[in-house]
Amino acid sequence: MMAAPRLEIDLDKIGHNARILVERLGKCGIAVTGVTKAALGSPEIATTLLRAGVKALGDSRIENIEAMRRGQIAAPMTLIRSPMLSQAQRVVQYANLSCNTEIEVIRRLSLAAQQAGCRHGVLLMVELGDLREGIMPEDLLNVVEETLRLPHIDFKGIGTNLACRSGVAPDALNMAMLTELVEQIETTFDVRVEIVSGGNSANLQWAFRGETLGRINDLRLGEAILLGCETLQRQPLDGLYTDAIRLVAEVIEVKRKPSLPSGRIAQNAFGETAVVTDRGQVTQAILALGRIDADPDGLQPPTGINIMGSSSDHLILESDNTDLAVGAEVVFQLNYSALVRAILSPFVTKVMQPM
Ligand SMILES: *Cc1c(COP(=O)(O)O)cnc(C)c1O
Repeated sequence: MMAAPRLEIDLDKIGHNARILVERLGKCGIAVTGVTKAALGSPEIATTLLRAGVKALGDSRIENIEAMRRGQIAAPMTLIRSPMLSQAQRVVQYANLSCNTEIEVIRRLSLAAQQAGCRHGVLLMVELGDLREGIMPEDLLNVVEETLRLPHIDFKGIGTNLACRSGVAPDALNMAMLTELVEQIETTFDVRVEIVSGGNSANLQWAFRGETLGRINDLRLGEAILLGCETLQRQPLDGLYTDAIRLVAEVIEVKRKPSLPSGRIAQNAFGETAVVTDRGQVTQAILALGRIDADPDGLQPPTGINIMGSSSDHLILESDNTDLAVGAEVVFQLNYSALVRAILSPFVTKVMQPM
């Protein structure tokens, strides 16, 4: 029997998804930065993305970038979260480019690059409504001016990130604003803004709508490649696999039990109060998979099987499927949050195919 629980990662399907997106966006003049943060620095996934034609890799964690470097990945890499001051040395050593919003950090990166005898590229992130990271548009020119003065920093461009904290959708208006800022920078400082990174997987519908894309020439894509869906409504994308990554878990108990708990109901293990209804006797199966291993809210079971509850180590299913015997395996599709936790869990074996 194979180890369980396990993540089955199909590199061919991931490569296919990446290639299709690279081709479609290439037709619009947009290059893809493949975001690897949910791949935990896997050199196999990084190699798959690069073979599919992504022009660079992006990760929010310097640790993952370092892991890919140790795995002999030589491609350009972007740190897509603003660097911590305490990590400036590592950032200039392992990443070519980083997304930045604080001049204090960029100054430190310049100093670190000087000490390391290298140069470091900077992308300035602009706040366009989602209220996560970003320089306020009215402050951008000042930050560009200071960045241009730093001796070991190359100002490479600007970017924005939407649909993450507040779910603000990329649209003609906020994207045109990014292009307008590019033009302001170029006329004010007589520089060429090389990279204009319009956003993440949430930008795909905007990009494919066929409207003018302005100066945007880069998108940072993670979820769309790995899970095959856009991220505004989580709809599958045409021609992409949504099952490139699957989670398999094993049944450890199957019993007929009442659906109604007996006894006085207080909080459960997670401080929640269970909503209970009497549906008579049910067939309940327990999987050796818990909240420690994956986010149960992000698991999609096969049709005919329902997730009824979870605790740290158990996932409780109901089904009239008689195949659910002890030792049987159940295969789930995952959303991003379930994927990230499963990748991180040392209890979940990762099986990549083909190697
Ligand atoms: C995670 C992240 C991305 C990728 O987002 P997806 O929705 O996975 O495509 C892009 N940019 C930044 C700054 C991120 O943190």
